[in-house]
Order: sequence, then structure tokens, then C-alpha cells
Amino acid sequence: MKHKKIDAVEVCKELEDVLALRLKLTVIERTVYYHLLRHTRLEGKLRQRFTIAGVALKLGISRGPVRNAIRRLADHGVLRLVDRSYSGHLVEVRLPAEVRAARRKKLGTGSASQTKPLNEPNLEEVDFLRSTELRQAIHAREGGRCFYCRRRIPGRSRCLDHVVPQARCGQNSYRNLVSCCVECNWKKKDHASGDFLRELYREGSLSRKELVGRLRALHALAAGKLRPQVFHGEDAGSERSGGNARKFFLSAVNCELSTVDY
Ligand SMILES: [Zn+2]
Repeated sequence: MKHKKIDAVEVCKELEDVLALRLKLTVIERTVYYHLLRHTRLEGKLRQRFTIAGVALKLGISRGPVRNAIRRLADHGVLRLVDRSYSGHLVEVRLPAEVRAARRKKLGTGSASQTKPLNEPNLEEVDFLRSTELRQAIHAREGGRCFYCRRRIPGRSRCLDHVVPQARCGQNSYRNLVSCCVECNWKKKDHASGDFLRELYREGSLSRKELVGRLRALHALAAGKLRPQVFHGEDAGSERSGGNARKFFLSAVNCELSTVDY
């Protein structure tokens, strides 16, 4: 792939005509992607290390939108964050034709498709912080209990926690998000989840048996075995917060309302 000659015109067409439309990329997301593409694949390189500040400076926009654009592009598989350090992000940039989410065909819009659970590969590519319904799916999966301390949580006190913190490139995948109480969310901060569970055991919040069970749950989560129940109307990978073209909805039985999501 490194040495394959890239047809820049075709890449631009695929970006504008397919990728940007299917993923509903914003102007800033397109701009950031163009910039990274130009300095990697269009120069024959697969990866490049860069800083948010450097990209923001070159594009003349502030860091926040650049950071958000990179997260969203990574969520869609347009970029792959290989490494993050003080010297910046090492990013692998995919060509539009290499992005799986953009190649997927639109699913039907009939009643049968509206109640069809998401399956591979869609669920793996969904940003579960993108909509209220998706956040509720994570809360519902935990059955109203804190993932860490197992206490029952009042609906208004539920939080979503990144098992691998965002500061360490943790994604908004169902494999990396858990429902937890405010206290655990506050105490865990950026600590590793396994260490935090052991801390709960040491302070007596978890029994030995519960600790073993929680550590197993952590492994099951990372292995993709704790899949939330989500139903969809169309294409999961393209859903945007606030959009009305693609709506997600949950089984009313599984959905427990919460006003504090994060
Ligand atoms: Zn807790």
C-alpha cells in the first residue's frame, strides 16, 4: 500500500462524492482530513506524526474543532490513532476507498429494518456518545448498577466512563464505555480500570468475589462480549447527533432514562 501510486483526482472525487456524503463530514472534518491526506498518502506515506496545535496553526482554526474532527474521523475509521505522546499523535490515514463505513450500502428503511439489532461491523464503528439513545444503551446494558462498585444508581446520577481514558486515546465504543456512579467516575479519573477495581477492593467497596467478577467483566467488555441492545432505522455508522434522517431507538423495556450522561 505504501508504494502504490495514488490517483489524487480520484481520491478527491471519492472524498467529495462518497465519503463526505455517507459520513456527513463537516467542513472542518473535511479540511482536517484533506490536510492529513496531503501530508501522508498523497506523499506516499501511510503514517505521520503531528500535533493538534500544529494542524490548527496551519489550517488557521482553533484546536478544539481540530481535536473533535480527528476524534470523529478516527471513530469512522478514516484515521487510525497509532500512538500518542508528548511529541504528538502518530496517525495512519486511510484513503476514502479504504474506509469501511463509507463502502457500506444503505440498509432498507422498511419496518423490518427498523427493529433489526445492529450487528457486525456496524456496532463496532458506532460512537456511543453521539446521541442520547446510544448513551442510554450503555446505561441499560449495566442494568442500572455502577459497572465498578455495583451499587444501584438513581437515574439522575448515572455517568458514562471511558475505561481507557480519552487522554490515552480511548474511543467512544461500547467496548470502552461503561455506566457508573458519580463517585466512581470522580475517583477513577484517568486511572486504569483494573487498578481502580483493586482500589475498591482494598477500601472494602468490593468483596474478593466481586473483584474477580468485575475484572472478568472488564475483559469481556474489551473482547466485545458486552454488547448493548441497540436498534436502528438505517445505517449506524452515519448517525449524527441531532440529525433526523437517521434515528436510533431502544427497546422501551431496556431503556432507563438518565439526565446525567457524562
Ligand atoms: Zn460506583
